[in-house]
Amino acid sequence: MGLLTRFASQWVAGETLEDALRVARDANRRGIDALVNHLGEHYHEKGPVEATTREYLRLVSAMRDQGIRGHVSLKPTQFGVLIERSYALAQMLPVLDATKADGRVLWLDMEGSITTDDTIRIGEDLRTRYERVGVCLQANLRRTADDLSRLLDRDIRVRLVKGAYKESPDIAFPPRAEIDRAYLDHLETLFERAHDFQVASHDGRLIERALELAREHPTPFEFAMLQGVRDPLKDELVKAGHRVAEYIPYGPNWLPYFTRRLRERPRNIVTMVRSFVSG
Ligand SMILES: Cc1cc2nc3c(=O)[nH]c(=O)nc-3n(C[C@H](O)[C@H](O)[C@H](O)COP(=O)(O)OP(=O)(O)OC[C@H]3O[C@@H](n4cnc5c(N)ncnc54)[C@H](O)[C@@H]3O)c2cc1C
Repeated sequence: MGLLTRFASQWVAGETLEDALRVARDANRRGIDALVNHLGEHYHEKGPVEATTREYLRLVSAMRDQGIRGHVSLKPTQFGVLIERSYALAQMLPVLDATKADGRVLWLDMEGSITTDDTIRIGEDLRTRYERVGVCLQANLRRTADDLSRLLDRDIRVRLVKGAYKESPDIAFPPRAEIDRAYLDHLETLFERAHDFQVASHDGRLIERALELAREHPTPFEFAMLQGVRDPLKDELVKAGHRVAEYIPYGPNWLPYFTRRLRERPRNIVTMVRSFVSG
């Protein structure tokens, strides 16, 4: 478990709020905004959901006290969307008020496709109360072009990702080339129609295309990348004058997040096994 924790620490700030704040301060020092997520998902009981709400309130308040630049990103299933959508919305409202008081963006992560509709509906509800609300959309889902249009019509910010959840081929593109093609299409839509969106990828080809589109359509947007991935590129983009945000997850429930990171790049599994063998 110790070795696993050590390996996971490249992608996870640590188990405590203090760990997240330390990594966020470090990101800020490098000119990068923090995008902090308290790990936890798929809650079916109200106890852990309400503890999550309290943790986010502590987080936003600590970010304010320490002058940390950045935003928070919530997972709908950690706020109880699997219990009931209206309950999840009610749990998010105090966090919305706290982020609104500081002018931070409240981002919603996008999880597996059984929650896509509810996440979008919650994003729309939150947007009626505060203009700085964003929703993540996944390029691997066939429905995303419609969802993108719908969110842009409602002036909701979008974070575009490839998608980290395993989905069936009837609703998602299985080949990576098709996901990349869809990502490029959505990227064009974003640069043509949106402002203040996130290009959330570490894929050099997609980032290059975003840089080209940014020259054609000057509009505010930011690159977003995960903690522990492509750090030199983040610094390069900051140096070139681009806005960059770093997704900083923390908390004791890091295993599902860690597993998704391992799965998306087979080389990570090899590196992990090697590091275990060499101690
Ligand atoms: C800020 C941010 C927020 C996200 N939020 C969500 C979300 O809410 N919902 C969701 O489904 N997904 C989310 N994701 C994850 C996303 O869907 C992808 O699974 C992940 O970003 C990998 O895709 P990629 O675009 O980087 O491309 P890939 O083709 O997977 O990777 C491109 C290159 O990036 C590098 N790289 C990528 N991942 C790693 C890694 N783990 N370790 C080391 N190098 C790596 C490698 O060099 C790789 O060749 C988020 C990603 C980011 C950056």
